[in-house]
Amino acid sequence: MSDIMYKSTRGSEKKVTASMAIVQGIAEDGGLFVPESIPAIDFTLEESLSYDYRELAYRVLRLLLTDYTEEELRFCINNAYDDKFDTKLIAPVVSAGKYNFLELFHGKTIAFKDMALSILPYLLKTAARKNGVKEDIVILTATSGDTGKAALEGFADVEGTRIIVFYPETGVSPVQKRQMVTQVGKNTKVVAIKGNFDDAQSAVKRIFTDNALKAELKEKGYVFSSANSINIGRLAPQIVYYFYAYTQMVKSGKIKVGQEVNFTVPTGNFGDILAGYYAKHMGLPVNKLICASNDNKVLFDFFETGVYDINRDFILTPSPSMDILISSNFERLLYHSCEDTEKISSVMGKLSKEGKYSFEVNKEFAGEYATTSQTLEAVKELFEATNYVMDTHTAVAYASYKKYVANTGDNTENVIVSTASPFKFAKDVLKAIDEKYEGIDPFKALEELEKVSKISVPAPIKGIDKRPVLHEDVIERENIEAYVKKQLIG
Ligand SMILES: *Cc1c(COP(=O)(O)O)cnc(C)c1O
Repeated sequence: MSDIMYKSTRGSEKKVTASMAIVQGIAEDGGLFVPESIPAIDFTLEESLSYDYRELAYRVLRLLLTDYTEEELRFCINNAYDDKFDTKLIAPVVSAGKYNFLELFHGKTIAFKDMALSILPYLLKTAARKNGVKEDIVILTATSGDTGKAALEGFADVEGTRIIVFYPETGVSPVQKRQMVTQVGKNTKVVAIKGNFDDAQSAVKRIFTDNALKAELKEKGYVFSSANSINIGRLAPQIVYYFYAYTQMVKSGKIKVGQEVNFTVPTGNFGDILAGYYAKHMGLPVNKLICASNDNKVLFDFFETGVYDINRDFILTPSPSMDILISSNFERLLYHSCEDTEKISSVMGKLSKEGKYSFEVNKEFAGEYATTSQTLEAVKELFEATNYVMDTHTAVAYASYKKYVANTGDNTENVIVSTASPFKFAKDVLKAIDEKYEGIDPFKALEELEKVSKISVPAPIKGIDKRPVLHEDVIERENIEAYVKKQLIG
């Protein structure tokens, strides 16, 4: 098997191994690492039916992370996908009425980010060793709520690493915020930013490409890496669950082996759905990838018009992890659609200068969106019909999927990717089900949702309002760089 090398979407000629791409996080020219070619699976779909999650993860990851040995990969996988997950299936497909949900929220922080962030620290530590990196690795993470906590859990007290998480002060749910500011671990820092997610993400990306700062910190024994989905080490593990969902759809008799399915994915930074695109190009029979947006529907508008335009208001919604205008991973899709790095550089230059660009629309995707009221109605509708409680992000996907079917008549079997436990957004979920919960305390809402859903409050957030707050820093977005320096070198 020949090595898959990674290169920047923006063209610097240098090619790096998978492990080096994971250590660096982002390419030096500000582009994202992409595989030079997308490898085809070398197992059959029939064979995949007999694999458990770990075996399937190994079969998929070995094709992409080719410079890791079998022993290294199995070590990473076995440590990631163990009893941290509250179900042996790791990522079960469950049905409610005629809808299929791929539940990606059975890990430590009850959101889909756990799927990749349970394994990333192992992949990164292994990569650092393979590449002779002696410095401490500093993980800088911008979060719209879920990545931050999942990264903190993954990296807390991991030797040789530090982690600093930036979240928008008013842009995350009360439970998300609580989860982060109560984080233990002597190598962890959590900071609120006065600004939105895009501000935090842009500031962090700037630090990654600030060569003077990087040189200064390297002197002091630190290198930066990223736990955001700009890191290929986040993306690759997400491909696995698309294959895994497919095996479950076959086993439950919903589809025959080889039959195409659709996936509807609630989208923010375009990382989750891009993993579905990679799965398709590796050989999974996928018809359409339905990209579901909330009121921040930049992507929906793009798929309609071919114009990506962020010159609009940033809207706070009950699905905060999707409140994003600049979807970083979209750059990777644009690259794979044309493989022209000069074009990508110019398009990304336009985005940062004018806030918009035009590009040919990729027809493998369909865009849809749900407004806030459609999202909340969806939670109520499905609960009343089936007793299944969706979180607000999953509800965006469900409502978008229904609009897609109404508009196209496409009756391909569909999997809705369910990205968070409803307990993470308990207050909004309850309000959607019954307006009598309008003024409920967000932590009281956990117990109430337990009664309504007949599902116990997940262990990771039980009693979370009683845990001590350990992180109280709030800073201006201009001060992110100074803050990082102060933390590391005083
Ligand atoms: C991060 C997140 C999303 C969006 O995923 P992307 O990979 O950023 O597109 C959707 N729902 C939840 C609950 C999330 O945490």
